[in-house]
Amino acid sequence: MNIQSMAASATPLREPNARHTRAPLVSLRNINKTFANGTVALDDVSFEVRQGDFLSLVGPSGCGKSTALRLISKLTSPTSGKIEWHGGVPAAGDIGFVFQEATLMPWATVWENIYLPLKLKGVSKADAEAQIEEALTRVNLLKFAKSYPRELSGGMKMRVSIARSLVVRPKILLMDEPFAALDEITRFRLNNDLLELWQTYDWTVIFVTHSVFESVFLSNRIVVMSPNPGRVFQEIDVTAGYPRDELFRTSPVYSANCRVASDALEAAMKIGPQSADGAHL
Ligand code: ADP
Repeated sequence: MNIQSMAASATPLREPNARHTRAPLVSLRNINKTFANGTVALDDVSFEVRQGDFLSLVGPSGCGKSTALRLISKLTSPTSGKIEWHGGVPAAGDIGFVFQEATLMPWATVWENIYLPLKLKGVSKADAEAQIEEALTRVNLLKFAKSYPRELSGGMKMRVSIARSLVVRPKILLMDEPFAALDEITRFRLNNDLLELWQTYDWTVIFVTHSVFESVFLSNRIVVMSPNPGRVFQEIDVTAGYPRDELFRTSPVYSANCRVASDALEAAMKIGPQSADGAHL
């Protein structure tokens, strides 16, 4: 059985608003992040992520999207403001991180790359076997367990990277432009597969992208950010349910949501550098 049919048979359809009633998972409250060189990456940023959200952060380069992800993952701390976890601060293994580069170990096989996070947790190879097989099956790479990264396409490497994240069963998955370097067809396929995984595992996903079209296809919520300094410009609820498939990409509801998000992004990009009191410089 392939990844699509597994997920489709395992999960019920989701209504557009089902996720809007979920409990808050993490809130960013009035976050400011100023780097040592004086760059203000985030200025008074507040937004909330709910359990089960597929939330995209969209905005031009430099508006602080990656910084926001790194703050949520605890890779860095805010200069001021608060990150509030509603069900308690998650353990390190509860947060998965997928980067634009697949960052695989070139000297290790696919199986060994996926084993790494389990090895770091002290799980033996024998005990890891079943989990790794499941992860490989989910990303449709079971046949490539013994291959090396150099033998894989860009899309396959990204699938390995996703499998490596899901093998430790994170509650929340942070993805920083994971598909930006891939061709459009591969990107569309991985978008579909990611949605299947999100539904199967009931993840919460925070996804950074430049692409309005990708964000609308994937998300139930979009936070549009503006640059100089990074701020939340607008929050958008995508008015479409799941599952979403190739037909959704050509539907009027998809176009309408893309229009709303594009208009917001265009307006956000018009915002220039501002002085401390909010006036345009
Ligand atoms: P985005 O992901 O939206 O492209 P980033 O979060 O990477 O934006 O960066 C936001 C701003 O912070 C940019 O101006 C970037 O140059 C700056 N920045 C990011 N990381 C650092 C750092 N470690 N030191 C100094 N400035 C940084």
